[in-house]
Amino acid sequence: MNPQLLQTPIDYLKGVGPGRADLLRKELGIHTYQDLIRLFPNRYIDRTGYYKIRQLQENSSEVQVVGRIVHLKTVAQKRGKRLVATFRDDTGEMELVWFRGHKWMKESLKLNVPYVVFGKCNRMGNVFSMPHPEMELLSEHEQSLRTAMQPVYPSTEKLASKGISNRVINKLMQQLFIETGGRFSETLSAPLIRELKLLPMREALFNIHFPKDQELLARAQFRLKFEELFFIQLQLLIRNLVHKQKIKGYVFDRVGALFRDFFDRHLPFELTGAQKRVIREIRHDMGTGAQMNRLLQGDVGSGKTIVALMSVLLALDNGFQACIVAPTEILATQHFNGIAELVKPLGINIKLLTGSTRASERKVIHEELENGSLHILAGTHAILEDKVRFHNLGLAVIDEQHRFGVAQRAKLWHKNTTPPHILVMTATPIPRTLAMSLYGDLDISVIDELPPGRKAIKTVHRYDSNRLKVFAFIRDEIAKGRQVYVVYPLIQESEKMDYKDLMDGYASIEREFPKPQYQISIVHGQMKPADKDYEMERFLRGETQIMVATTVIEVGVNVPNASVMIIESAERFGLSQLHQLRGRVGRGAEQSYCILMTGHKLSADSKTRLETMTRTNDGFEIAEADLKLRGPGDIMGTQQSGVLHLNIADIVKDNQILKLARQYAQQLLRDDPSLSAERNLPIRHTYAQISKKKNIWNYIS
Ligand code: ADP
Ligand code: MG
Repeated sequence: MNPQLLQTPIDYLKGVGPGRADLLRKELGIHTYQDLIRLFPNRYIDRTGYYKIRQLQENSSEVQVVGRIVHLKTVAQKRGKRLVATFRDDTGEMELVWFRGHKWMKESLKLNVPYVVFGKCNRMGNVFSMPHPEMELLSEHEQSLRTAMQPVYPSTEKLASKGISNRVINKLMQQLFIETGGRFSETLSAPLIRELKLLPMREALFNIHFPKDQELLARAQFRLKFEELFFIQLQLLIRNLVHKQKIKGYVFDRVGALFRDFFDRHLPFELTGAQKRVIREIRHDMGTGAQMNRLLQGDVGSGKTIVALMSVLLALDNGFQACIVAPTEILATQHFNGIAELVKPLGINIKLLTGSTRASERKVIHEELENGSLHILAGTHAILEDKVRFHNLGLAVIDEQHRFGVAQRAKLWHKNTTPPHILVMTATPIPRTLAMSLYGDLDISVIDELPPGRKAIKTVHRYDSNRLKVFAFIRDEIAKGRQVYVVYPLIQESEKMDYKDLMDGYASIEREFPKPQYQISIVHGQMKPADKDYEMERFLRGETQIMVATTVIEVGVNVPNASVMIIESAERFGLSQLHQLRGRVGRGAEQSYCILMTGHKLSADSKTRLETMTRTNDGFEIAEADLKLRGPGDIMGTQQSGVLHLNIADIVKDNQILKLARQYAQQLLRDDPSLSAERNLPIRHTYAQISKKKNIWNYIS
């Protein structure tokens, strides 16, 4: 068909006046015919059956009843008025009720004419009532394009109150198919359609709106989900390819003296298989001539630091500088200390730059950076300031991605004319398929193996009523020379109350563990940074045995001697946060423990979370469980990335389709990278349209 036709403004569709056009634009973002076709139903209802009023039951799902309105009245109530219709069939009477949009309804309803009403029923005494029913004259109902599966379209309160009901949308959809003849162009190639036995485009669109039966509906959904995910993947892959062709990077083709020397003589342990593999991937990337943009995922304690260091050594061997950026001063300092220690025998100049670096020291750093005599700079965001200029920055390592936005990555970019290679490290395990969609512009490496000999953390769930036993356990561990974290939730909305919980908890721990025998640190978000650091340092040095804290200690802090993590009100934390917190222990050789404290009242979700935590230590398994519980919306980073704006596919539920789509997109680009083959013309066309029209495909940043 003429593709221009689909670009027709929605105002021109029969049945859409200026008023409705306005509402459709504002409420549903429908501007054109094309937008309307792409308004897919949220769900479907089987409307082949009819109920008699006598058969109605409380709490039944939506029902369909045939009858007549015999009486209509407006009833005043506290908050405004409602419109009540008495609806009768040959078995009894019920009520239809409207709380909004009475005026419009009152004018349009006809008395004593057969209607089909549809909706959910409530029971009020002996009478059933159906609020805001969908209704249709029986005569029209019999004529309309009726299918077994009735689509339910997305709607808004405003649309409903202005009379644009589901039925109206349905009618507009029918009108649209009539005007266009339903001849929608194909978007995928014939071989692909054949191979995957997909419904052709026009049949898919017809059956998504007017499904003849369950099977055709399922095939239509599959086809449209596949298509949506396929084009997202195609776009991500192409962007990645273009990036690699266009964005030139430094070529690190030498494995030089530093890398060799460190590897052969100073590596403190044997690398795990996963570490070796990831180092190979990074080496390969930095040797291709394209700029590396790689995300390194690895559970807490999986040994990302050494991977970062070896990558840094490669940069140095090739005559470049490197920097390591961490989200907090404590973490930056930890990185600095750890790496400085490791590279001591190599004679490398490494320095630390944070917000509290003294001006005199800062001056030296600036000088050495610019003349190239400083090889590695570790630090916080302070590194990103404009006045910090490198002689030749070849590699930037960024720790803990989720505290560090894309914009900040870009800042590093502009420090050179040729961008440095970028390695982003994160301990927040994101299921791979989700990561593919979130960070489509990054390549991904995964360390999926813990260093050998690590003892699994023992995790248990204890009720508050068992607190005394838990205290006794803490006492025993401290007697063995261990240290203990006690973490309280601090969730913004109820900050005052949480703060009180924390202070009450601190007071009770102080009573149980009195000075001078016991020393206690406390860290929370309302303290000055300097005070926080001071308390943290005391715990790090082992001067305090107990650290009472809020989740500020969540990320990255490494105190190998701490072997017990108590999480208070554990039911209030999300799974990934619980896992992150647990990762603070189990870093030394000793057996570590995580104790999840809760009250007795627990929701089903809380129980699942606690059960998951006590069952497994595997970050990826936990991430999958988390994703299932919460949906992708709450997972770190998804909000901004907009993977939620998918039209029909669901990134969690349709995981298998996503994998398939990615696989076929990859294959397509291997076979026909420029999409110039005759058979791929439909794909090329669609791709071009999508790339132009950001508003439909706005999940691609
Ligand atoms: P993370 O991935 O959480 O940043 P680290 O890099 O801090 O983990 O490593 C955690 C601990 O494991 C460190 O003490 C580190 O020295 C140690 N480690 C890392 N790799 C290995 C290995 N291959 N064998 C033994 N210990 C290792
Ligand atoms: Mg780390």
